Amino acid sequence: MVDSNAPMFEIENLHASIEDKEILKGVNLTINKGEIHAIMGPNGSGKSTLANVLAGNPVYEVTEGSARFYGEDILELDPDVRAQLGIFLAFQYPTVIPGVSMANFLRMAVTNVRRARAEKSGDTTGGLAPREFRRLMKEKMKLLKMDESFATRYLNEGFSGGEKKRAEILQLALLEPSLAILDETDSGLDIDALRVVSDGVNALASPEMGFVLITHYQRLLNYIKPHFVHIMIEGRIVQSGGPELALELEAKGYEKLRAEFATPV
Ligand code: ADP
Ligand code: MG
Repeated sequence: MVDSNAPMFEIENLHASIEDKEILKGVNLTINKGEIHAIMGPNGSGKSTLANVLAGNPVYEVTEGSARFYGEDILELDPDVRAQLGIFLAFQYPTVIPGVSMANFLRMAVTNVRRARAEKSGDTTGGLAPREFRRLMKEKMKLLKMDESFATRYLNEGFSGGEKKRAEILQLALLEPSLAILDETDSGLDIDALRVVSDGVNALASPEMGFVLITHYQRLLNYIKPHFVHIMIEGRIVQSGGPELALELEAKGYEKLRAEFATPV
């Protein structure tokens, strides 16, 4: 069960495969509350696989190791139970839901998580009345400097990259998780999306919350100052350090690192 003395999140010797091909080859990572971690690495190094495994995507098979949230292994839990525990993974949600507005989608998502959390602590009143939800959503949109009209848009229908990220960050703000794991798209973020993500993370970061930002590019880290930077190559974290590591990487390029750390063939 949940152990408040354990680190908030601890990934230990995590191995995962897809179609019998091993992608994650022993990932170790500890995240305490209040910390912002960045995971960087070249394309194909397994960053999104890590995010997917933590989200519970059934396509990936965990073959070894653990991922513990306050001491509780989450790898056997359903994705929605992970969310109820306080872990946020943006992409576990459907990308397009025809005919469902942002506001309605968010109210469902937030109500589900809140109700489950409340029930756990013996409170059966859980959930959120529509009026209360609207008030909360307005408050969060103000905090994130988002236009209120955004809430009436249909979920992801014709959303730009920036709007998709805006929806994600708003959901994050409303769910108030303990740990948020954000995976950047492979094509990287356009300037609008980059702003949304960095402003959002900066507005929401608190001593109670941990972040894992997965990114291919150093660019995102011009706007967000991570406490720790990790480099992932061939399914392992091969180097960890402070923000200076991202700059070093930018100067050096991934090729040199790959030569240094890749397993010889
Ligand atoms: P990154 O996010 O660091 O670019 P990925 O985790 O997306 O890396 O990919 C790591 C490796 O796993 C790549 O070789 C990729 O081809 C393979 N892979 C990832 N997802 C799948 C999938 N759904 N089916 C087959 N191979 C996959
Ligand atoms: Mg990726």
